[in-house]
Amino acid sequence: MNATFPAAPELIEWHSPRLDPLLDRFEKDGALHTTLLFTGVEGVGKKSIALHFIQLLFCDRSIFAGAEEPEDSLFGGSTTVETPKSRIACGECGSCIRASRGQWLDLIWIDPETDEEGKRLGTHKIKAFRELKEKLGLGPAEEPFRVVVIADADRMNQESANSILKVLEEPPKNWLFILTASDSSRLLPTILSRCMEIKFSPLEPDRIFSILKRDPSGEFPSRRAKVASRAAMGSISRAKSCLEEETWELRDRLIGLLSNPAAEWMGLIDTISTSQIRLSLALDLMETILMDLLSHRIKGDGHLWIHEDQKEPLIEIADRLGWDIARLVRTLEGIAERRRHTGLTLNAKLLAQEVLAPWMDRS
Ligand SMILES: [Zn+2]
Repeated sequence: MNATFPAAPELIEWHSPRLDPLLDRFEKDGALHTTLLFTGVEGVGKKSIALHFIQLLFCDRSIFAGAEEPEDSLFGGSTTVETPKSRIACGECGSCIRASRGQWLDLIWIDPETDEEGKRLGTHKIKAFRELKEKLGLGPAEEPFRVVVIADADRMNQESANSILKVLEEPPKNWLFILTASDSSRLLPTILSRCMEIKFSPLEPDRIFSILKRDPSGEFPSRRAKVASRAAMGSISRAKSCLEEETWELRDRLIGLLSNPAAEWMGLIDTISTSQIRLSLALDLMETILMDLLSHRIKGDGHLWIHEDQKEPLIEIADRLGWDIARLVRTLEGIAERRRHTGLTLNAKLLAQEVLAPWMDRS
């Protein structure tokens, strides 16, 4: 389960209004859509917000508490004392305390497989869905709902997708499904049509900066965190990868390529073609460098630089290359196009050359 719990307050504050329509509807008529789809760019916090929401669903003092009313007692009448119901998990009840210890009763979390380093995502194992089906007859053990999270559902293969589709068509009583996806267009239309989509917007750089500084492992200079939060395009995971030494070095070499193509060209191709992760990283970095050059061309000196620490060299490069707006936009479009090929190509070196080619062309 690759999610932070509890989520950073900055993240909750930014995303939680997206959940309001669900809470409004539940308060109004007690109804909750059984299949939710959380979408937004990779690393925006979808899974952390899913856990935040599940804590609220399970909290004994939340509006969801007692959603499944017990059968009328033999002795007639209810003696339950009315307690005010909240839209914020209390953090003190039995369910909240279990959650704080990572003991989530009635939660089934299905992740895709990852590679040995845990970085690269594969597809989901069909076994997980078979096991899920075996539990379908069961109701929640303790909480008002049994919740199933299918993380990165856009990485389900056909077999897994068909398997879960059958479950979603007839969801068991008091079961709730939360799917997360960065690219919802990769989900089967038949699954999409069953989902209520909740879209999470990219985070602002200042908010990412605060979240980075809050990270207990955050032994990094503020200067670097500032660049990372701006280069992250709204994604916390992308910001974290920007903080790494390897990314930092690669960025400087890409800027170096613009200053001195002959010296950097071959070495950089070798470096970025060694893995798809590096190739994607190079594309991300080139995109942010080009965005700086484009903003400089449009707005002059006064814009907010992503690579603020490299402002002077970049201005010099921009003046020397003399690329106009159309040229910069075309190069950015080329990067988007090549990103689609990074997972498909067999010849990484050739793709690396294609990726770097617009960097070299002075026409
Ligand atoms: Zn609680």
